Amino acid sequence: MIPNLVFILILFFAAGLFYFKVRTISREIKLGKPLKINDNKLRRWKLMAKVAIGQSKMVTRPVAAIMHIFVYVGFIIVNIEMLEILIDGIFGTHRFFSFTGGLYPVLISSFEIFGIAVIIGCIVFLSRRNIIRIKRFWSSEMKLWPRSDANIILVTELFLMSAILVMNASDGILQMRHGTHYANVGYFFLSGLIQPLFSGFSNGTLVFMERFCWWFHIIGVLAFLNYIPYSKHFHVFLSFPNVYYSRLDPQGKMDHMPSITKEVKMMLSGYIENNVAGGDEEIGQFGSRDCRDFSWKVLMEAYTCTECGRCTSSCPANITGKKLSPRKIVMDIRDRLEYIGKNVRKHGIEFTDDKSLLDVVTAEELWACTTCNACTIECPLNINPVAMIIEMRRYLVMEKAAAPAELNAIFSNIENNGAPWQYSKEDRLLWSKDLEIVVH
Ligand code: SF4
Ligand code: SF4
Repeated sequence: MIPNLVFILILFFAAGLFYFKVRTISREIKLGKPLKINDNKLRRWKLMAKVAIGQSKMVTRPVAAIMHIFVYVGFIIVNIEMLEILIDGIFGTHRFFSFTGGLYPVLISSFEIFGIAVIIGCIVFLSRRNIIRIKRFWSSEMKLWPRSDANIILVTELFLMSAILVMNASDGILQMRHGTHYANVGYFFLSGLIQPLFSGFSNGTLVFMERFCWWFHIIGVLAFLNYIPYSKHFHVFLSFPNVYYSRLDPQGKMDHMPSITKEVKMMLSGYIENNVAGGDEEIGQFGSRDCRDFSWKVLMEAYTCTECGRCTSSCPANITGKKLSPRKIVMDIRDRLEYIGKNVRKHGIEFTDDKSLLDVVTAEELWACTTCNACTIECPLNINPVAMIIEMRRYLVMEKAAAPAELNAIFSNIENNGAPWQYSKEDRLLWSKDLEIVVH
């Protein structure tokens, strides 16, 4: 009875903590500007099925793709066993689903196969990160917490899966010995293979091992659940809405600026009687200086990023040694948003400080972008770093007049000559003056 009560208390505590953290993140995302996305619903559902569930963009790198599917599918399926653990924990039963008879050992054995797949996946991922040291996991933005975060998750999954195997192996031996509470429910294939390791242990030791692994697994999974919202692994939840709300326009198409349209209409309204916008209406800021200038969708993208670095490793600016890393920009937005969110909770929605996102994302990074969209195409979660970059550039140019000198020359030429070149309109056809060309 007492273990059941302890179990229920831990369960509610963990669920409550998780709920509050997710609510906090949701509020932080809502600090972004409103954006209505309710078009093409069928197309969006299909995209979500293909990219988020089917992981179609992972296949470009087959080793990572196969291992990721091992860990992703394996972890979900193995945790179906959690359902049984929950029922056993609440009602004090042991292996509740064993009433399914001959099907039960087949089910548990297949869960164990998926568990082994997760273990293999985690070992490969840990080796790629820490032994092979793949470059994209060792770049400058991947120091300290981002590097440890991935390792913590992988090691935790390794321990959780191993606990299931040890639990099943000791349970199997106790079943053969007809231990109290351990009715014979059948042979579990993979954990059966490691039973010889423990066959010399006494019943008391085996019961301790089985119970320890059982509690370790459930507490581990609940702790893992609460760790996820603090980690890049929050993408396991956010990838679905993030892909659903993907931008459906062709990659190269830049978004219009409604603020410009509004300003032009307001200027015109001073001359035209047909007053399209109220003359007193305030003109908003152009582009984005800080997190709250982006839409909620951009802020959700920042929380969805898995820090995989596929964007950065395909970015021509980064490859050719420029300072730009699209992954860093996405991470900077997320870190700054966390900071703003924390202070909004403390000081209220009006909170401001004298810092901005542009203190951490430099103009050098922003102007290194060629807007080639390779980062967006490569991102397995349809995150769009180039849209973030363009918004910050717009702020620099339109609010701060802080464009690079080369661009300023182009802007002047467009203003004065109607073209990006430095020749006046009158001189444009000079090249043809000695030719026998009739100009109509
Ligand atoms: S769009 Fe910009 S950030 Fe993205 S890959 Fe191209 S150059 Fe890099
Ligand atoms: S933006 Fe996408 S590709 Fe880049 S690190 Fe994040 S998840 Fe990976």
